[in-house]
Amino acid sequence: MQGEIEDKCGIVGIHSEDDSKDVSSFIYYCLFALQHRGQESAGIATFSEGKGLTYYCGMGLITDVFKDYEIHNLNGNIGIGHVRYSTTGQSRLENSQPFVTDFDDGFIAMAHNGDIVNSGELRDELLNEGYEFKSDTDSEVICYMLKREHYDNNKSIIDAIEAVSKKLVGSYALVILVNGDLYGVRGPMGIKPLAVAKRGDDYILASETVAFDVVNAQYIRDIVPGEIVYFENNEIKSHMLEIAEESSLSHCMFEYVYFARPDSTIDGINVYQTRLNIGRQLHKLYPIDADVVIPVPDSSIPAAIGYSRASGIPYGEGLIKNRYVGRTFIMPTQEERELAVRLKLNPIKEAIKGKKIILIDDSIVRGTTSKQLLDLVKEAEPAEIHFLVGCPPVIAPCFYGVAMATKKELIAANYSTEEIREQLDIDSLGYITLESLIEAIGMPEEDLCLGCLNEKYPTELPDDIEAETYYKP
Ligand code: AMP
Repeated sequence: MQGEIEDKCGIVGIHSEDDSKDVSSFIYYCLFALQHRGQESAGIATFSEGKGLTYYCGMGLITDVFKDYEIHNLNGNIGIGHVRYSTTGQSRLENSQPFVTDFDDGFIAMAHNGDIVNSGELRDELLNEGYEFKSDTDSEVICYMLKREHYDNNKSIIDAIEAVSKKLVGSYALVILVNGDLYGVRGPMGIKPLAVAKRGDDYILASETVAFDVVNAQYIRDIVPGEIVYFENNEIKSHMLEIAEESSLSHCMFEYVYFARPDSTIDGINVYQTRLNIGRQLHKLYPIDADVVIPVPDSSIPAAIGYSRASGIPYGEGLIKNRYVGRTFIMPTQEERELAVRLKLNPIKEAIKGKKIILIDDSIVRGTTSKQLLDLVKEAEPAEIHFLVGCPPVIAPCFYGVAMATKKELIAANYSTEEIREQLDIDSLGYITLESLIEAIGMPEEDLCLGCLNEKYPTELPDDIEAETYYKP
């Protein structure tokens, strides 16, 4: 979409009945566990009766943004937080969240994970009504739509969310703070995850269950697609959106393949288990005779273990990842950018030399990482390289919050598997099939969004929609 940018992120909300409590440091810990969902910016907003709304956002990792001072100045027993994912070219503080908008007797603070495909049109409507935007994100559009319904049109917040949900096309999981009340909303197709847990008497909403584990909270359940949850008298209250009745499920397969942490469970399916299954399925499809199965760390480790267990071929580390390299590692010159993969991953020559290796990666998107990676691996002189991929060929962009790339950039949209194998100059290349991936996840095909793999998108798409590329050095 012209000028609009997507938000694929991690969100957290905490509600405590105890108004002497500050929840900001717990939001911080939860966001820290969700850092993999976004490294571009981070923000927290909290509310206390005495101090009202306080918030702080900044660029970079959660640990860079929040030092002691910022955290302890955020007071209150209710709050929300956000980590934002980076895409090419739009790294601006104005796009960081939570977004806050205030009115005479209150405010709305909101954090969003997802992507609204008709946000251009919705934004134009708001601009015509005099709303001014500070960012170019669709999240700010949702925030002002809520304000319009709640404040200008005098609706309760539940009715306001109902009204807004009827206009939104796309994916969303939201945490919303309205004058001291916390709401969680999961879009009716369930593309983005959102779950709820309890810690003592406090409730926590988060994109992934790993956020609950780190603060020793007890997972209760996933938010049902199309559900609004809020908290009253220490209980979870629920309201189902009217549009949920006519919507079908469309869970994002890429959460399981790459995006989510393996120690999270989404909609009852553990991500680690799914990745083990992916490895087993790869073995069924490609029973290769080799000496060792090597993952591209970290995301492919479970799939390599799965392949190894299924085949009996030993699992071995062959690439060591520098754990201090973040995804936002910016390198100014081409020469330095070429060093990026080397700085991130280094082959163990002794583990590779002279061996027939099966190398497993979670996905090939543009193919640039694989090329650089395989060049490195070849320097270690393996006898054979068989490259297996835990995601079917990505042939189309994602418009729902995982910036993949434009069709022109997607290698599998432009070349056959054999052509890609030739370009990579390796002995064999095998992608998991769509059927095998669906089996590995264990959800019915009709409940999954597979748009980037088969171009069957779960919503209408505007003609002028543009795809985005994720940032990678
Ligand atoms: P490339 O083929 O060069 O685009 O890089 C593919 C690698 O980047 C995969 O193996 C993943 O580790 C990672 N990756 C895939 N999709 C994304 C995405 N949407 N955002 C960030 N990283 C990704």
